[in-house]
Amino acid sequence: MADPLSLNVQHLKPSETLAISNETRRRRALGEDVYDLSVGEPDFDTPAAAAQAGIQAIQRGMTRYPPNAGIPELRQAVARRLSLLSGGRPVDADRILISSGSKQSLFNACFNLFGPHDRVLIPAPAWVSYPQIVHLSRAEPVLVPGDVEWGLKVSVRDLDRAHSKLTRGLILCSPCNPTGAVYTLAELRAVAEWAQKHDIWIISDEIYRRINYGPGPAPSLLDLSDELLDRTVIIAGASKAYAMTGWRIGATYGPVKLIKSMTAFQGHTTTGANHPAQWAAAAAFSDDRVEQDVVRMVAAFRQRRDYLVERFRSEAPGVEFIEPHGAFYFFFRVDGIRDGAPLSGTAFCDQLMAEEGVALVPGGAFGDDRWVRLSYSVSDRELETALDRVLRLIDRLASVPAPGSRP
Ligand code: PMP
Ligand code: GLU
Repeated sequence: MADPLSLNVQHLKPSETLAISNETRRRRALGEDVYDLSVGEPDFDTPAAAAQAGIQAIQRGMTRYPPNAGIPELRQAVARRLSLLSGGRPVDADRILISSGSKQSLFNACFNLFGPHDRVLIPAPAWVSYPQIVHLSRAEPVLVPGDVEWGLKVSVRDLDRAHSKLTRGLILCSPCNPTGAVYTLAELRAVAEWAQKHDIWIISDEIYRRINYGPGPAPSLLDLSDELLDRTVIIAGASKAYAMTGWRIGATYGPVKLIKSMTAFQGHTTTGANHPAQWAAAAAFSDDRVEQDVVRMVAAFRQRRDYLVERFRSEAPGVEFIEPHGAFYFFFRVDGIRDGAPLSGTAFCDQLMAEEGVALVPGGAFGDDRWVRLSYSVSDRELETALDRVLRLIDRLASVPAPGSRP
């Protein structure tokens, strides 16, 4: 039979992060002693005030179709929160669109902005879904490797090298999944000026903005002046900072013309995001009690980050890693761990699962298989035990003599 699938999905691959996590969950359900540090999902419960608002919404009958673009209360709450996070700059709720998770916000933005023959630059290593989303928009993703000396972030020079007449977009992620690196405001400004000079759209995925270990939220493109924001789209969401992954609420900030087109688009695809979940998210973005929960969760992530970094420094001093300044990922390099032939991230993760029962994600999923990603969005106890096991494998690998070397 001829292939029944259309060209639209010719590049489609399942999400590796979700696949590894599903497999680990299956093994745990069978009673196997495995630890899942693969998926990036907060281990905390949804803050009570947000959950309560969702329950009340159901009880109040908010169970019919929502307005296409999102309930006004949530669009306003997101606009107000973005404004507060950026020093009170005005943010108009008409420029906010609510979607079913920021994954849909990203897909919707890419589909409305890019198409055949367009190229979209993606600093790499990059979250698994960006290249896929660009492919689904029938455009071409172009990975731009970051500089290891610089936390694997890209500079204007790197972007210049990757740029061509066909380049139409750039997807930035800061704080970055998978590295935990954070762009400074000066770095963001340089990238925004570069994009403006070349008429390139920036989609800035700021879903981890609140999970920042410097003072306050991570720098945002919204901290820049209006002139630099004509062709800017900002992605926010409830999943990470508010521990609301299952509620599936994402938000896009962009120029009104784009937001209108994206609204029409989701009018034909999803009708808009889950109605009661929007009420829960409206509370999350606006309720002061939830703000206190966010502060507590970020403090817990910071403590785990410190613990992890400290143990890697003292117990695996030869292993290179990216200093995590935000999000909840730790990205470390495995190719030089043992003597002789370089080890790949995939081989390391396979061995780790087989011998120690810990799931991590090979860097290959993000475009560079010399590395491995560890997500520390797990309890302290799980982190401690899983880390014992990871460090034990590193130690074993490092002490095996290379074939042919002298004993
Ligand atoms: N962007 C990044 C960088 C992510 O890590 C995730 C996590 N899945 C998302 C977007 C999508 O999140 P969600 O759809 O849950 O809002
Ligand atoms: N963003 C998370 C991760 O990278 C969740 C899984 C996914 O959607 O890819 O692990």
